[in-house]
Amino acid sequence: MESIERGSAGSARVAIVGGIHGDEPAGERIVRRLADELDERGSGSGSVRLIVANEPALAAGTRYTDADLNRVFPGDPDSGDYERALAPRLAAELEGMDAVLALHTSHSAPPPFAIYSDPTESVRRSVTGMPVEYVVDSSRLRSTTLDSVVPHTVSIEVGRQGSEEAVEYGYEACLAFLRAHGALDDDPPTFTETTIVAGDEEVPKGGGEPHVHFRNFEEIPEGAVFAEDDVYTHRVEEEGVVPILASERGYEEIFGIYGRVQGTMTPPASDGDGTTGGEESTERGSTAEGSAETRSTERGSTAEGSAEETAEQP
Ligand SMILES: [Zn+2]
Repeated sequence: MESIERGSAGSARVAIVGGIHGDEPAGERIVRRLADELDERGSGSGSVRLIVANEPALAAGTRYTDADLNRVFPGDPDSGDYERALAPRLAAELEGMDAVLALHTSHSAPPPFAIYSDPTESVRRSVTGMPVEYVVDSSRLRSTTLDSVVPHTVSIEVGRQGSEEAVEYGYEACLAFLRAHGALDDDPPTFTETTIVAGDEEVPKGGGEPHVHFRNFEEIPEGAVFAEDDVYTHRVEEEGVVPILASERGYEEIFGIYGRVQGTMTPPASDGDGTTGGEESTERGSTAEGSAETRSTERGSTAEGSAEETAEQP
């Protein structure tokens, strides 16, 4: 782990983390560009901490060396697995931060989106201050990710793995994040409403040729097949379901995650533009609480993977 301190224009202590996954070079490139371009001393009392998390995996160009870092929090300082031992060191480096942004890329199609586990006011400021149309509430999914253990952390999927667009977009999103927390004062922050999509079920892969028929956040019509392979046919039998991280080959064990639109996250009250900031509206257009029974999954003879155990998240 490499940690670089830069100055802040304001009082907040914020951090940006790249390179959690070693096969996602965009995060490290963005962090190093920020290190080059931000001043070492700011006019404010706060600070900007820039972190490259997993150097051995980055050097190898692999997602991880021993274990997926974003699946092993809170980790174990005594573990012999590199990432299990790294997790508590990274969490300690982020302790007491007012806001944290973790950078990721994926194999699924744009648009970029943010992810949170606990919608604190800091998280609201980060999410609505960045140029994302959607934010995923991952609180119903696994609790072993960085954003589920370090307070005020937002993860952001900045684009396709390996693309220049992901680096450019991610860099701009970081500047927006810094402006939202007052750490950068070159331009005023811009806050916009962001659509909340709750992730409520991972969609397992079985084997054979994978096919995914819908893109991220595209509503799947009732009765349509979201994804299929030789083992599964995932037919959606209710309204309001949208895919998150949909991809045919991005993850070994899932096609993506089923989500549903929950409402909107509004800008912080003091920075609003006449909207009534402060509360999320909920349950727009849907009453279900993750009713998995109303989706059918036709399994072939060999299926036995349980979605809860095996699936992936950014
Ligand atoms: Zn990642």
